[in-house]
Amino acid sequence: MRLRNIPGADEVISNSAFCIQNPIELKGKWHEFFGNTNPIHIEVGMGKGRFLMDLARQNPQINYIGIERYTSVLLRAVQKIDEDPLDNVHFLCIDAATLPEIFDHNEVDRIYLNFSDPWPKDRHAKRRLTSREFLARYNEILTADGRIEFKTDNQDLFTFSLEEIEASELWHLDASTRDLHHDPKMNQGNIMTEYEEKFSSKGNPICKLIASR
Ligand code: SAM
Repeated sequence: MRLRNIPGADEVISNSAFCIQNPIELKGKWHEFFGNTNPIHIEVGMGKGRFLMDLARQNPQINYIGIERYTSVLLRAVQKIDEDPLDNVHFLCIDAATLPEIFDHNEVDRIYLNFSDPWPKDRHAKRRLTSREFLARYNEILTADGRIEFKTDNQDLFTFSLEEIEASELWHLDASTRDLHHDPKMNQGNIMTEYEEKFSSKGNPICKLIASR
């Protein structure tokens, strides 16, 4: 994603009621924060947030937290939610490497990863959001029956992700496809992300996997 420094983005984000400024203080208290015991689903690398907000509108009984590290990207999501507020959505402007500092063990029920940056150089493999390093972080915060759902059009990143799951003694691959939009079972109820729409309209097949422990 090409990034522009957008003047005023930091200010909009720090003043939005939907962006949590000190998420570390809520570690272990997220249900208290939402005021219910509903499951918590997070999207890591949410971009402009359309996927998360569509899901939240469909599922008011689930709490959603969108995570994005750049204010310039998060700004668009904040503008959208300010126009059309949703009680069950909040955003965090953080690097996902800090997830275990923000969520306690068993606090998150599902993690969505959509069109994560591929980091094609081998020396950057640790930065991929499906690397063993990130899988270990997800393991620290997910409930026992929690799962991750990952979509991408990047075949190499998808192969890498399958290999990371297979190499792990902890994670189990529940389902996978390299052509989501032509897989009636896995595509049922699919909500498209901004990147998914862009790449599938160019004819790129979309890959998806679901993994749990
Ligand atoms: N998920 C959206 C979609 O499918 O349309 C956006 C995909 S975009 C390619 C990937 C996003 O993930 C970018 O906005 C990027 O800033 C964010 N991202 C990448 N690594 C991240 C990290 N470690 N922590 C938080 N956000 C991250």
